Amino acid sequence: MILVIGGAGYIGSHLVKELVKTNEVVVLDNLSTGHRWAIDERATFVEGNLGNETDLDHIFSTYDIQAVMHFAANSLVGESVVDPLKYYENNVSATLTLLKTMVKHHVKKFIFSSTAATYGIPTVDIITEDTATHPINPYGRSKLMIEQILADFAHAYELEYVILRYFNAAGAYETAEIGERHDPETHLIPIILQHLLGEREHISVFGSDYDTEDGTCIRDYIHVTDLAHAHLLALQVLLDGKKKTATYNLGNGLGYSVKEVIKTCERVTGKKANVIMANRRAGDPARLVASSDKIYQELGWKAQFSLEQIIQSAWKWHQNSVKVTK
Ligand code: UDP
Repeated sequence: MILVIGGAGYIGSHLVKELVKTNEVVVLDNLSTGHRWAIDERATFVEGNLGNETDLDHIFSTYDIQAVMHFAANSLVGESVVDPLKYYENNVSATLTLLKTMVKHHVKKFIFSSTAATYGIPTVDIITEDTATHPINPYGRSKLMIEQILADFAHAYELEYVILRYFNAAGAYETAEIGERHDPETHLIPIILQHLLGEREHISVFGSDYDTEDGTCIRDYIHVTDLAHAHLLALQVLLDGKKKTATYNLGNGLGYSVKEVIKTCERVTGKKANVIMANRRAGDPARLVASSDKIYQELGWKAQFSLEQIIQSAWKWHQNSVKVTK
């Protein structure tokens, strides 16, 4: 049995949809930002907190858990700057309780959702796993702290782990049964699509004076289903005992500016956006683009979806989501 913490959230729910095809799955989620409708019905659902040792003790003594996959975190750069306590409590302190309880119950295999935000402002154009990590916001720091704790736990308690550093997750499940739904929404692609559906008056571009070709921030967008497939491979190498510890970037290797993303959304939807130039958002680096060569070399994983396909799937989801989320 695999325990997926945060399996009701955006990325976790997409992973669960793939994982249930070959594994028994228990999902722990407090539904603070995730959704009950997003959890695949083949998974066993436990409503509870990863920072609550009693909830965790219950799960580890009830089910035979072979590995834990941890998606439950707050993940908004801007929010982390104004409310760092929330990030250190939920992302660091609660995860520490989880790791402590895992060690207590002799559960030794762990997949951790980390982030490109651990790199801060990189001095290279393409980020590899060896690029120095100097996060510039509390969100990135909270994730890096857990990465460091994992290395110490591996050394001292034989914890085995794979850290996956996501770049910008986007897109939706192929059937449009599930997709991205945050409240409030802050991510670029859903905001553009909501605007193009008439749910917002305009799109604000946060900063047009960055040191990039068109002055707007460049990000590496990766389909959520590609992320899910990388997790399955990471889980398999841990279960097979082929790796004890590893850290991998997960990205497309291609950078797109905010303006290019807006243009692609216009092309995919056939609609014209009303775009307003706004101030920079605190904590945003100008450019974050991944090299995912390491995971390709070691596990054979490569992103399959282009930006266009990502947006097509997200558009299908946004049109369908009114029905699903009712
Ligand atoms: N962004 C923007 N307008 C918005 C939302 C986001 O210009 O309404 C920009 C944001 O400043 C960043 C990029 O789009 O440069 C991607 O932001 P998002 O919040 O989607 O992901 P992040 O990179 O923060 O994880």
